[in-house]
Amino acid sequence: MLIDLSALLRGEVTDIALDFDITPEEAPYGIEFTEGAHLTGRIEDTGGYIRLTAVAKVPYRGECARCLDPVTGVLEVNFERTLVPEGVMSEERLEEEADEYLAIRRGMLDIDEALCESVFLEFPQRLLCSPDCGGLCSVCGRKLAPNETCDCSPKEIDPRWAKLRELLRDDESTDEE
Ligand SMILES: [Zn+2]
Ligand SMILES: [Zn+2]
Repeated sequence: MLIDLSALLRGEVTDIALDFDITPEEAPYGIEFTEGAHLTGRIEDTGGYIRLTAVAKVPYRGECARCLDPVTGVLEVNFERTLVPEGVMSEERLEEEADEYLAIRRGMLDIDEALCESVFLEFPQRLLCSPDCGGLCSVCGRKLAPNETCDCSPKEIDPRWAKLRELLRDDESTDEE
């Protein structure tokens, strides 16, 4: 998305409202960005400093890291930069401090790359369908309630019960005699 800042640079306006659809292209692994990503915010000239403040809302679809159920949500990313006209800062410094500055080139601002990167970096490492998701049983694959242990798997016999079982077996054998 190219934003025309020439009127702001000429001092004709001091404020530009931002309100447009965006398409963050690179989604983290296993995540799909669904329709309707949107950015709202403003660009303001506050006495020589041009400041961009915006919020991107990015709907997504993925799956729970524990139970693999589908998870959908809207990621909100705060996107703020100080905008500097071409030539004010060296290209090297612009690159090093890309999370703080963004260059205005030929009166235009292109936020796509920086915005996509922010969205990518802000995305949660692990999605969960709920914070206490019980996940899946590692034996039968059944979805478990929070803190539930599945009874499908053979339980280890408590040593005390094992002893009792032996005694009972002895009894049985005595009876048979
Ligand atoms: Zn889950
Ligand atoms: Zn199970």
